[in-house]
Amino acid sequence: MGGTMKAVRFHAAKDIRVDEVPIPELKPGWVRLKPAFVGICGSDLHEYEDGPHIIPPKGSPHVMTGEAAPITIGHEFSGVIDQVGEGVTGIEVGDKVAVQPTIYDGGCRACKRGLTNSCDSFGFIGLSGWGGGMGEYTTAPAEYIKKLPKDMDLKIGALIEPLAVAWHAVANSPLKAGDAVLVLGGGPIGLAVVLSLVAKGCKNITVAEISGRRRQFAKDFGAHHVVNPIEEDVVQKTKDLTGGEGVDLCFDAAGVQKAVDFGLESVKARGTFVNIALWGAQRVALNMTHMLFGERKYVATVTYVDGDFEAVIEAVHRGDLKADGMITKVIRPDEVAEEGFKALVEDKENQVKILVDMSKAKEVSTTK
Ligand SMILES: [Zn+2]
Repeated sequence: MGGTMKAVRFHAAKDIRVDEVPIPELKPGWVRLKPAFVGICGSDLHEYEDGPHIIPPKGSPHVMTGEAAPITIGHEFSGVIDQVGEGVTGIEVGDKVAVQPTIYDGGCRACKRGLTNSCDSFGFIGLSGWGGGMGEYTTAPAEYIKKLPKDMDLKIGALIEPLAVAWHAVANSPLKAGDAVLVLGGGPIGLAVVLSLVAKGCKNITVAEISGRRRQFAKDFGAHHVVNPIEEDVVQKTKDLTGGEGVDLCFDAAGVQKAVDFGLESVKARGTFVNIALWGAQRVALNMTHMLFGERKYVATVTYVDGDFEAVIEAVHRGDLKADGMITKVIRPDEVAEEGFKALVEDKENQVKILVDMSKAKEVSTTK
């Protein structure tokens, strides 16, 4: 074995590089794959802008991986199996796959209950170590590998992870037939929530989003109504759309105080507000009186558990989840900072999901 490969690695905030690193060795029970397409996530952008946040800083290695920055990034990815480790069954060389990147220890109090997304040692392939999608090769435990149908486009395969986040949020909400739903934020996760709601047959979806282009995306993806919270009264609008009652459910994929305020206000008595947003160290204030007098619920959801990836892959394959419209740009591994992160900040209006094409990794030069 041996040899080296290119990998896009986070060194520090505003410092990501294409490095030459050793090709990872395969362990028993693990597989090696060649990543194909990698989505750039809002959390990658946070790391780049003012991280490290999830990425373990130099000197503080992650408890499961033993690794710290510099770390290979990319946790939303598809690929093709390149080698299968000893003892692995049901996965073959050449299989198209998506990787469920959440790292868990399998033995803590949450994992024992099957709640691997709430693991005490929680981490991510592509943020916490064990390689990542932006390497020419990466390895992962076989149980993290989710097979894709042979006829599925590997670009779509890279969307399974963000779709699974939204799918899990909807699957774990009390959504029932006839419910009216408000989605806060029309970024990739908000739009994936819309797609998941449409797939579940929801007939009354409103998206609150300040960007006009993103409101258009929301409509294209199946939202029945859109509202610009800068110009319109969201609470009044949702009342008008629900016979004065308010929405049954609100999904927060925005993560800003103002949106929480009008989102919670839009929820009817005994309705539920679901937080998906990543808040970092920031605290949010809740109008507890409004929650109390109306028995409203505020719940949280994070990533996915076993079964969510499978359900999303099936729904995409059946054509119930139409996600291809999310891909707005495909870039090379040496363009991640300029054409990826910068575009997501400066051209937010026009970008939803930017993919990195890893088949180009061989041709790019390492960062000097
Ligand atoms: Zn655990």
